[in-house]
Amino acid sequence: MRKTLYLKFILAYLIFGVFGFGIVTIFVPNMTENYMVREKAQSLYQEATLIANTYATGLYTSEASLETVQLQLDSLSVYLNSVIRIINPSGRMVLDTENPFSVEDVVTVENFDPTVTGSSYYVVNDFFHTFPVEVLTVIAPITSEYKVRGYVTIHTRMSDIQDSCNMMLNISYITLAILMILSLIILIFFNQLVYRPLRKITKAAEQYAEGNYHYTFHVDSGDEMGYLANCLSYMSDTIAGQEDDQKKFIANVSHDFRSPLTSIKGYLEAMIDGTIPPELHEKYLKVVLNETERLTKLTNGLLTLNNLNTKGMRLDLTDFDINRIIRDTAASFEGTCRKKSIAIELKLTGDEFEVHADMSRIQQVLYNLIDNAIKFSHHDSVIKVETTLKNNKLFVSVKDTGIGIPKEDLKLIWTRFYKSDSSRGKDKKGTGLGLSIVKEIINAHGENINVISTQGEGSEFIFSLGLPDDDEI
Ligand code: ADP
Repeated sequence: MRKTLYLKFILAYLIFGVFGFGIVTIFVPNMTENYMVREKAQSLYQEATLIANTYATGLYTSEASLETVQLQLDSLSVYLNSVIRIINPSGRMVLDTENPFSVEDVVTVENFDPTVTGSSYYVVNDFFHTFPVEVLTVIAPITSEYKVRGYVTIHTRMSDIQDSCNMMLNISYITLAILMILSLIILIFFNQLVYRPLRKITKAAEQYAEGNYHYTFHVDSGDEMGYLANCLSYMSDTIAGQEDDQKKFIANVSHDFRSPLTSIKGYLEAMIDGTIPPELHEKYLKVVLNETERLTKLTNGLLTLNNLNTKGMRLDLTDFDINRIIRDTAASFEGTCRKKSIAIELKLTGDEFEVHADMSRIQQVLYNLIDNAIKFSHHDSVIKVETTLKNNKLFVSVKDTGIGIPKEDLKLIWTRFYKSDSSRGKDKKGTGLGLSIVKEIINAHGENINVISTQGEGSEFIFSLGLPDDDEI
């Protein structure tokens, strides 16, 4: 399509030109000449009949002299640009506007036959060899007292008619030329407004089809072409972004899998070849176990993220008591909290409070947030979990007084595999997937999550939840 569209238009233009020219040069001249000859013959025939009934009859009834009639017909012949003759049935020329009458020189039209026009009222020939060129002749009989006395013949040179014909043809040629120029202008506009942008778009589409999503192009137009180009380049940007994300994702996954595997391999080899003495085996086996736990956590996180993948995420929405879920989740951290002497303080709206959401997913959100709060809290501190009802939404907040998040990291913590530098020392098992899972779950519910944090003072994560339909005020 790409290469032929313009050619097709050029071809159509050429066909239009050739046909137009063909019609104008082949059919129009014939049609015009036929039409003009008929028209001329008709008007001359009317003139001839008029002359036959007036001046010429007068000549035969001796009401008018030959000189008078000659004078009148002379001026008429100039006006008609034709030769007028009066001929007797025998062929003897009585009057000829081309040659003044003379008694000595009587001209006779040899083989004169008044029926030469046949069924038509005109004939085109040299009129019984009396003209050196072709003439259009009309013949009208002069009658008096029910007898044919003679004939009025009017002759016009065919070359004169052809001259007028050529004039008309020239007008047709000029019109055709103007049409061709106008079509050419349309073709140029088409090239500029449609074909060139289309070619750019097609080229870009080819590049994208080959996987070159970073290919850039620009169509400077506000019409549908420009809109199409913008959509295409937006699409490629999105795909390019996704591709980059995917590459980064795979790089991160590989890296995060490789480091625990390397250390597991290293410790196990050292134990086998005796570099680590048997009495230290238990200590290093615990390290190995820790690393395997990290790998398990990483795999689980990846599987969860894969299952979530936003738009495709299917939520099992029910009405459930969020207070119970908060209490149960907090209780599951009892052991960890005891080790760090951390207390979890709950400040919940009502004894029971129903929300409309996917229960197990929200439990996971709470689990990840409380897990982080504990990880990044100092010993002997308090973590507050609070719910507040506002604008038909329930806001759940998980607040700690731990290390806090540096301002520059606040936007990044939601991205997959992100771990802030300050947290690395404190949280060796962290995968950097917890908060991206949290965000995807909350967003899939059509809700929001925010963080307020000051480095060195602590962090607060707040997310909203919808209420059951009946509870909405
Ligand atoms: P991880 O599983 O490694 O904790 P997350 O996605 O849950 O990954 O968190 C990403 C990063 O956000 C953490 O590495 C940490 O730097 C920061 N972060 C999350 N929660 C807190 C918190 N409560 N206090 C301080 N930093 C936090």
